[in-house]
Amino acid sequence: MGDIATTESTVPELIRTHTCGALRATDMGTEATLMGWVHRVRDLGSLIFVDIRDRYGVTQVVARDDETLLALAKRLRPEFVVAVSGTIERRSEDTLNPKIATGEVEVAVREIDVLSEARRPPFQISEETPVSEDIRLKYRYLDLRRERMQRNLQLRHRVLMAARRSLDEQGFLDIETPVLAKSTPEGARDYLVPSRVHPGEFFALPQSPQIFKQILMLGGMDRYFQVARCFRDEDLRADRQPEFTQIDLEVSFATPDVVFGVVEQLMQTIFEANDESIEIPFPRLPYAEAIAKYGSDKPDLRMAMEIADVSGVFADSDFQVFHDAVAGGGVVRALVVPGAGRYSRSQADKLVDEAIELGAQGLVWARYGSDGPGGPGRDVQSSILKAAGAETLGRLLEAVSAGADDLVLVAAGSSAEASGLLGQFRLRLAQREGLIDEGRRALTWVVDFPMFEWSETEGRHTSMHHPFTAPRDEDRDRLDTDLGAVLAKAYDLVLNGSEIGGGSIRIHDQPLQRRIFELLKITDEDARSRFGFFLEALEFGTPPHGGIALGVDRIVALLAGEASIRDVIAFPKTATAVDLMTGAPSTVSPNQLRDLHLRTDS
Ligand code: ASP
Repeated sequence: MGDIATTESTVPELIRTHTCGALRATDMGTEATLMGWVHRVRDLGSLIFVDIRDRYGVTQVVARDDETLLALAKRLRPEFVVAVSGTIERRSEDTLNPKIATGEVEVAVREIDVLSEARRPPFQISEETPVSEDIRLKYRYLDLRRERMQRNLQLRHRVLMAARRSLDEQGFLDIETPVLAKSTPEGARDYLVPSRVHPGEFFALPQSPQIFKQILMLGGMDRYFQVARCFRDEDLRADRQPEFTQIDLEVSFATPDVVFGVVEQLMQTIFEANDESIEIPFPRLPYAEAIAKYGSDKPDLRMAMEIADVSGVFADSDFQVFHDAVAGGGVVRALVVPGAGRYSRSQADKLVDEAIELGAQGLVWARYGSDGPGGPGRDVQSSILKAAGAETLGRLLEAVSAGADDLVLVAAGSSAEASGLLGQFRLRLAQREGLIDEGRRALTWVVDFPMFEWSETEGRHTSMHHPFTAPRDEDRDRLDTDLGAVLAKAYDLVLNGSEIGGGSIRIHDQPLQRRIFELLKITDEDARSRFGFFLEALEFGTPPHGGIALGVDRIVALLAGEASIRDVIAFPKTATAVDLMTGAPSTVSPNQLRDLHLRTDS
């Protein structure tokens, strides 16, 4: 290690002794060799400051006195990769930087090695200036150098390590399942991989390891988990990825409570990895209640704002529309929006327009004057004052007990329609009025999902979760009489209004599994060709079992405070399922196609 500065070298002669985040005041007087990217250069003529960056931090390096060294430092440009070595000194008073861990020291450099030069990057790495996402994704390697992605991917790593640790401690085995698989049904389109050696035949990339993990339970593995990549060829939606990562797990001899216990402990460990603590157990909310009270099966419980049933108020009122709705078997529901009582009449009327834009028939608003004599209904203003009358609106006030600052919104229709509409306003207005406690982590289980939903397009019932989900024992008889009323042993985990996981207790006997396929109008022949091996396996002694899959991308995004999962994935695809960096998907050579016995028609 000579002390003559070199200009260029392909192989570093220096050995890295510290990272760029390591040096402290206690290291003063010692020698260090750092390697990293030139973050910033400040050229003061006879004194040149160079900030060197790596994943661990930034360290200030200073070149002075030596002409050769100064000449070399002058040549440095942002994103050059360098090795520098010198003595650790205390920074001068005016350059102390308490904001960074290395802010008290600098390296008085004796040697600079340029390990690689860099073209001028298309955007600045050293500052979080806004850059279009397309450019960030095209030059992902540069974007990854920026603080935000460094922070997010380190968090992702900690989350996954914590998950593995927790599941290992809870007795789970990490077992890989095939990526070249047979199509498994999760309701989306499969990505197919043509087989070269079996002309005309295809593998499917797994939409989830569902059948394999169930087979692992049959195979006596008792507790399985995997950080599993899943592939779904879905229609484009803003924040979906064609491939995504799940913490997938399955437990033998499980009840929902057993799965909840495992996941609650797992989630606690995951939050700890982000220095957060959460309370367990999580509350449990039946699906029907979630829909009625929040208009959503993934309610955001960071704000109270429950939707109330006020059908009784309007059942025998003069307000014909609501009266008829109730008479026709529908409901009338109301939502109190704190703080929105001060809206002007035209602001409140705009909400009605908004409702219609959302596809609703209409929306009613009411608000009540300040406290004082006159009782409920005093000073009432409402979009239906004339049609409904002050007395009915007074009874509405009693039913929802709104204050002077509140605005009451009312909607009618089926339970799903009325609460669905109010649920959307609940979210929108909570956002607009700043009613969401942003620091809060509201975790809840949503349980007792319907087993089936009616698909108008397919003209048959489909599984709400997937066809391996068990019905609740008490609903088994209804399979013959009332499919719509059968509830499943299925559950979702919801965090701040986002679904972060879903699972179920599975069917473990063959006749019931067959019956469910039948009810789903999956023909015997179809069932045999798609899941014959699985139906057969169920005949050889199947432990009752259940599990869940948790969405890693979404969980990390929520912990990182990122709106898009693309910001917590190293190499995501765009919303149109394209990799802008590599250009995938792309055409392939005629030879490759020929080998695979494929012909394209474009
Ligand atoms: N396979 C399911 C999914 O990916 C999860 C489960 O039921 O465990 O959503």
